[in-house]
Amino acid sequence: MSLRGKVALVTGSTSGIGLGIARCLATEGADIMLNGFGDASQIEALRSEMEASHGVKVAYNGADISKPDQIAAMVAETAKTLGSVDILVNNAGIQFTANVEDFPTERWDQIIAINMSGVFHGMKAAIPGMKAKGWGRIINIASAHGLVASAQKVAYVAAKHGVMGMTKVAAIELANSGVTVNAICPGWVLTPLVEKQLQDRATRDGTTIEFQSHAMVAEKQPMHKFTTPEQIGGLAVFLCSDAAATMTGVPLSIDGGWVAQ
Ligand code: NAD
Repeated sequence: MSLRGKVALVTGSTSGIGLGIARCLATEGADIMLNGFGDASQIEALRSEMEASHGVKVAYNGADISKPDQIAAMVAETAKTLGSVDILVNNAGIQFTANVEDFPTERWDQIIAINMSGVFHGMKAAIPGMKAKGWGRIINIASAHGLVASAQKVAYVAAKHGVMGMTKVAAIELANSGVTVNAICPGWVLTPLVEKQLQDRATRDGTTIEFQSHAMVAEKQPMHKFTTPEQIGGLAVFLCSDAAATMTGVPLSIDGGWVAQ
């Protein structure tokens, strides 16, 4: 299977799962628009290394996914510089944990803006170009928390359930347009987002990060293993293939059995 000639925009791809997905799509030949925060020289080094190792075009846009106008401008710039947006992976996301009554309002607003509204604005901007070409793949990175809840994650769980809802709506609207819309629902993946939670738990309980990495995974997943960004990238590549052409509106769990319970 080859994605040569396709262009993929992956939000939040300077780190973690987004970077894993961008690398897997580039390995299949897709040109890539990277997005996300980070040190400018490190991002440029990543961009040029990906171009050289995968033999594809790789560009970067630093749009802040909490800002609708910046998302629309990034989609327009991708179409202008790389030719189109054929694959949109809405992946950028953040986390913050506290009980509902202690949850800071500004953190709620920020998580809803990035993890949920950002997905809506990305789809809104990219859909017209995909419909015009009669082919498109929208892959929303939700979470096991798009399907079930955990304590202390009210904004994250609300946002990810919202992503599941909008994935289904867009899938129905686009059912006969050649554009599919699906969500990937990972369990634990060892990325900077999760490393922070491990660090917080180790500090709180006076234990080591190694102890917490086992405890945290075992608490939720029957399978005591982290999923890797590359395994999620493999699923994204599958969703772009012809084999997945009639899959739409689906939450795809890749979570070590988390939501099977
Ligand atoms: P990460 O912290 O490693 O990466 C997050 C990426 O998003 C980074 O590139 C960061 O720069 C970018 N980002 C953050 N805020 C942004 C903003 N306002 N504008 C643009 N970019 C922004 O985290 P990750 O674990 O790779 O998470 C990626 C996605 O996967 C998130 O949506 C997260 O909710 C989801 N997810 C993660 C896990 C996990 O266990 N790590 C599990 C399920 C779902």
